[in-house]
Amino acid sequence: MADANGQGRVQGKVAFVTGAGSGIGRAAAVRLAQEGAKVTLVDKKEDRVAEVQKQIEQAGGEAIPAEADISKPEDIESAVRKTVDAWGRLDIVFANAGINGTLTPIEDMAPEDWSTTLDINLKGTFLTVKYAVPELKKNGGSIVITSSINGNRVFSNFGMSAYATSKAGQVAFMQMAALELAQFGIRVNAICPGAISTKIDQNTERKPELKEITIPVKFPEGDQPLEDGPGKPEQVANLVLFLASDESSHITGTPIYIDGAESLIRG
Ligand code: NAD
Repeated sequence: MADANGQGRVQGKVAFVTGAGSGIGRAAAVRLAQEGAKVTLVDKKEDRVAEVQKQIEQAGGEAIPAEADISKPEDIESAVRKTVDAWGRLDIVFANAGINGTLTPIEDMAPEDWSTTLDINLKGTFLTVKYAVPELKKNGGSIVITSSINGNRVFSNFGMSAYATSKAGQVAFMQMAALELAQFGIRVNAICPGAISTKIDQNTERKPELKEITIPVKFPEGDQPLEDGPGKPEQVANLVLFLASDESSHITGTPIYIDGAESLIRG
């Protein structure tokens, strides 16, 4: 919310949010707009973000849609161009879009299924950052990448070998980028959510072969001890806002867990 002078915590900044049509990306786009950012809503289907744009505009904020598949260089390049054409600058990048992909034993994983997950989650993150960097260099800025507890603290979600690998890769990439870009005043951090209530299950294909490798490591109850259930996208959005704003001005190269202690009990 804006302060007494009408200034939000990211007032006047321009933000580029991928996966803005649903879940964590949507909540972050709305939160950043509430705090004064102009937001480009990037998603693979433009109709997914129409409602988000309406919600932001009805609350007095500014947003534009950009249809882009983050795994396609030309799509991301043109979405960044659209942002700068509209608002003349870029300050905040939330590289968030991702899929769970195909969950199956390694021996049954089709090479194409592995590639799809890595192309969207890891290459898509690289492309988002790559095409944003020339604009961010002009005034400095903040990049936030959505990784996961999977691949960083948790390795017990059977069948998620491709997903977990992509999420671990994002954290390595984030740290390389943080050091490379520090001299330009660009901060780069990752968030690692535990289970969050979103539509990500719609991007998940569980193969029947999974039962062949699954061993009982799941807690029957109580595996999200802090709030006794999954987190909400709005809780993650508050972390994104903090990392995007100057309140985190000395934080870079850091993965931050947001999981209600789930990864501590399940790691
Ligand atoms: P979601 O499915 O609700 O939203 C993801 C959005 O990304 C969708 O609107 C989808 O259309 C978009 N998208 C997917 N592939 C895309 C592509 N190739 N190009 C452009 N847009 C694309 O899921 P969510 O839970 O909000 O996921 C956001 C991020 O959070 C993902 O990176 C996911 O791995 C991560 N994450 C989610 C959870 C969870 O429990 N929900 C936990 C940890 C990490």
